[in-house]
Amino acid sequence: MRPRHLLVAALASLPCLSAAPLAAQQLPGYTPKGSAAERALEADAVTRPDTADARKHSLALGSTVHVAGTPAQARTRDYVIGRMKAWGLPTEVRTYSVFLPHATGVRVWRVRPDPEELSLREPAVPGDSFSGGDQYPTVNGSSAAGDVTAPLVYVNYGLIEDYARLDSLGVSVEGKIAVARYGRSFRGIKAREAEKHGAAALLLYSDPEDDGYVRGDVYPEGPMRPSFGVQRGSVENVDGDPTTPGWPSTEGAERVDPDSVIPHIPVVPISYGNASKLLEGLRGTDIPQAWQGGLPFRYHVGPGPVVARVQVTTDADTKPFKDIWDTFGTVRGSEFPDQVIVIGGHRDAWGPGTDDNVSGSVSVMEIARAIAEQVKAGKRPKRTIVFATWDAEEWGLVGSSEYVEDDSLRLKKGGVAYLNQDMIASGPRFGGGGSPSLRAVLRSAAEEVPAPDTAGSLWDAWRAQADVAEGENPDMGAPGGGSDYAGFYNHLGIPILEWGFGGAQGIYHSAYDDPAWMRRFGDPGYRHHVAAARLGAAVALRLANADVLPYDYVEYAETMRGYLPSIDSAFAKRGWDDLDTGTLSAAIGRMEDQARSFEAARNAALAGSAPPKATLERTNAALLRVERALTRPEGLVGRSWFRNLIYVADEDNGYATMIFPSVKEAVRADARERTAGEVSDLAGRFDDATAALRDAEQALGGAGG
Ligand SMILES: [Zn+2]
Repeated sequence: MRPRHLLVAALASLPCLSAAPLAAQQLPGYTPKGSAAERALEADAVTRPDTADARKHSLALGSTVHVAGTPAQARTRDYVIGRMKAWGLPTEVRTYSVFLPHATGVRVWRVRPDPEELSLREPAVPGDSFSGGDQYPTVNGSSAAGDVTAPLVYVNYGLIEDYARLDSLGVSVEGKIAVARYGRSFRGIKAREAEKHGAAALLLYSDPEDDGYVRGDVYPEGPMRPSFGVQRGSVENVDGDPTTPGWPSTEGAERVDPDSVIPHIPVVPISYGNASKLLEGLRGTDIPQAWQGGLPFRYHVGPGPVVARVQVTTDADTKPFKDIWDTFGTVRGSEFPDQVIVIGGHRDAWGPGTDDNVSGSVSVMEIARAIAEQVKAGKRPKRTIVFATWDAEEWGLVGSSEYVEDDSLRLKKGGVAYLNQDMIASGPRFGGGGSPSLRAVLRSAAEEVPAPDTAGSLWDAWRAQADVAEGENPDMGAPGGGSDYAGFYNHLGIPILEWGFGGAQGIYHSAYDDPAWMRRFGDPGYRHHVAAARLGAAVALRLANADVLPYDYVEYAETMRGYLPSIDSAFAKRGWDDLDTGTLSAAIGRMEDQARSFEAARNAALAGSAPPKATLERTNAALLRVERALTRPEGLVGRSWFRNLIYVADEDNGYATMIFPSVKEAVRADARERTAGEVSDLAGRFDDATAALRDAEQALGGAGG
């Protein structure tokens, strides 16, 4: 995955929402009696994840490199399946054959001045017995093969605006080797822009200002990136297998040519030690001051006089397709088996991947074990819970996207929530976020989990770390993209949550993301792995056992209302004085009113004993339609796979979350009429969501707003 997804997204603090009129200790969606039983069940579940087990799984999965499409991934598949079987869970493996050319070799030379071949491999470091083993070549995923010799141009972060600046400086990268620092945007967009501007190759390097010595002591002395550490990572800009956009890569699947969406130039990540050997001698145009990074010399744009040679070989001509394996363990629900909570994390990595993402896989496994043990003890959840590990996430969310496309009908109908675990143990600081409809569940479940490092609950620790005032909640990020929730959220409109522990780290996508780093810096006692799993068990059970699904559409609508000023100001910037968000605002207002009315009806219906099962089935079926209504089958203009109209990863900056993308993208395209159309389209879909909420209320016997 990418390092800055929703855990750290900065949204304004939301005030605590006015408490619904529930009896003390009553959980939303539960009767008073059901609340007590559920609390007892969660209290039992959170005792079960265990540091010794977490450590055992972590070492089994994360001691050696396990890149998607290699035999090592068959071994991690077999380990996860073996454990889940041992815990008594029915299991399944889904195999997809996907476009996944591997790099077979890479060399980089400084040709002029002072010819030197750079040493690209990440060397063994003292005190880390896991370093120095097999490594995947330092080539970005989906890089083209090639052999290029050309002068260098430093392009800062390689963003769209950086190339505009180069234009204004009169510097072209046409035929040159572009050198960009990591950061500020997804690397796939850097590759796209370099190619678009005619660069013959792209070198990406980790500037010490980003995650190296400027930020802290470097490995093995500290957790940050050493001068020889390399960040690998995909440079593909589509989610899923590019040869099967929108359908699963199963046997005999129709395939399209991926040529239009994959890079055609070599893209190679290098360390800042090697980058300094190339950048120090650059001259030519002086840099804009903001382009200076953390290396100890003055940066220049070039071009030249430094000339480099970049050579990449791949198996694209001989074996472009590889088998990948998603694993599943399932607890079938006792009352509503067609309604499904999926908990997943990706199992592939660029190196040992002890943080990214053995940590998330371990959390998924410990959640599975906790709930499987309860099932053995006769406590089966009412809804189905699926424990998944995904393959080839690192190549463009491939395994999870293929699965979502494979099972889309079932998921669209019965998908209650997707809970994602990606990089959950790289430091002490807790973060969580997701769909606004589920944030209250995450906060509430955190109250049931002991804090890993302090007295009190995880909720107490979360609030203390976030330093929020009394009555305020910590910031919770919104889903953009960049991890395995994208298929569920962006493609199908299933609400998602994600959480984990983070901190300062410079081992992202490096060979040093290994057990030695984890034991020394990331999570020495495996307590954060366990705390993440405990929270997952509580959240999964809360969603699985509720009589009425505990989505909070009051918080949802309030959150949506908070976004309207940014849309209005985008219109004002274009000078579109006759456009405003009045219709959208009114629709969101109607949703909020209906959500409050539904909440009151729900609480009244659950004040005593639970309503009949048929009533609950009708109510929950309507609730599942609320956020599906905020997707559209034809997707966003120009990227039809992305159907959710609430959040998406910004197409021009994969790390930024775009809110109301159908509207915002029309504004960006400077298309006034299209923008007006998109505003009314979105308002209409909010009204459809409101209608689903009204159906839910009527099903409960309420007036239905
Ligand atoms: Zn990841």
